[in-house]
Amino acid sequence: MSVKKRTSKNVLLDTALKNFYAAAEEMGLEDGLVEVLSRPERAISVSLPITMDDGSVRVFEGYRVQHSTALGPAKGGFRYHPDVDIEECEALGSLMTWKCSLAGIPYGGGKGGVSCDPMELSMAERERLTRTFAARVAPIVGEWADVPAPDVNTGAPEMVWFMDTISKLRGKFEPGVVTGKPISIWGSKGRTAATGLGVATCIKELLKSVKVDVKGARVIIQGFGNVGTFNAITMDKAGAKIVGISDITGGYYAPNGIDVEKAVQHVTKHPKKLLEGYTQPGLEKISGEEVLFLDADVLSPCALEGAVNGKNAGNVKAKYVVEGANGPVTPEADEILTDKGVLLIPDFLANSGGVIGSYFEWVQNLNGFFWTEEEYNNRLIPIMTDNFYRVWNYAKAQGVKPRRAAFLVAIKRVADAVKMRGTFL
Ligand code: NAD
Repeated sequence: MSVKKRTSKNVLLDTALKNFYAAAEEMGLEDGLVEVLSRPERAISVSLPITMDDGSVRVFEGYRVQHSTALGPAKGGFRYHPDVDIEECEALGSLMTWKCSLAGIPYGGGKGGVSCDPMELSMAERERLTRTFAARVAPIVGEWADVPAPDVNTGAPEMVWFMDTISKLRGKFEPGVVTGKPISIWGSKGRTAATGLGVATCIKELLKSVKVDVKGARVIIQGFGNVGTFNAITMDKAGAKIVGISDITGGYYAPNGIDVEKAVQHVTKHPKKLLEGYTQPGLEKISGEEVLFLDADVLSPCALEGAVNGKNAGNVKAKYVVEGANGPVTPEADEILTDKGVLLIPDFLANSGGVIGSYFEWVQNLNGFFWTEEEYNNRLIPIMTDNFYRVWNYAKAQGVKPRRAAFLVAIKRVADAVKMRGTFL
């Protein structure tokens, strides 16, 4: 490869670029395509003057980066966090390009956000910030251009304000300009469970591929929030034995299996939606970290990034790790696990049920016709299954780890699209 490689002082972007160049080199991607795909198509900064509740005016910085639209409209969330900057958006936008490509959905990748401390903002200030952000990025977003979604510190209210502002500016209803809306305002049934259901689908297909019967297979699920609970519910229904679960209140170990239905009911009733105080016959309360080291077939970390790291990966006893969270296994831990013979299914394959679910919401919005939850799940599971085998078979054929295989498969689909579409005049 003879291209001049880009670097960045932003660690996230620098890592994204290094990973991309390494994969491009490995797959022998031609220089022109390397040049195109190592840069975002469009990156804009916007200033957002907001009248605060006390009458003063503050100006916030916002960003929207469209890394690629080769496969379709840019897709990716916008977040509110003090650390947001344009390079972070570029890095996260490129990861969305690869994630959507691997998921086999007709989207490119993008990301955006506003540099702010959302905890300091009242709801009224949040609304003005969101509406101003929507107005400033209006020229580049749209159902067929760029479709944002929730991300860190943004959720259903922000999506509704964003959609409402764009619709008013255009003088027509445009529900498909964002996804992650509540069911009552053109959101989608099934979305809440989609990511966990997708992770569980990968676990089931993995077990089938390595000839371990799902009935009685021992599974540990770290994190009992959105992704963790729906993963646990699905695995439990499939007959697996969930031997350990955890959340910020620690670990809960039941060698004969957690009563998942009871645990979910406990969390639903808990004022802070926690496992705190959960009990059942034969349950042992252990620390949050100890859960990761239980004897099991599968460990599925569904909490935060860096849960399995260089310091603790050596203690993991599970033979398979399926990443439900984003980046729960650090690169150092990944190497330790590989040396121990642990097989890992990477986050951007395993947790892609979320973005596939966003695609389903958009499809329903464009058609003005809503699916039942059953229809939604019946479409999600085959797509997740196909994606799993695309990566699994490629990894086997090429003799590479599933994480590498996923990245190579994803880049190839985008590169092929760029090549076919060509450059403009
Ligand atoms: P959530 O806030 O609903 O749940 C997070 C859970 O992790 C909570 O139960 C929390 O108590 C627990 N937790 C936090 N720190 C912990 C620790 N140290 N040990 C054990 N448990 C801990 O979040 P979520 O939506 O379930 O997301 C979880 C992860 O999955 C994140 O990395 C997120 O980026 C990723 N993800 C989520 C979706 C989605 O659709 N929700 C999609 C793709 C990826």
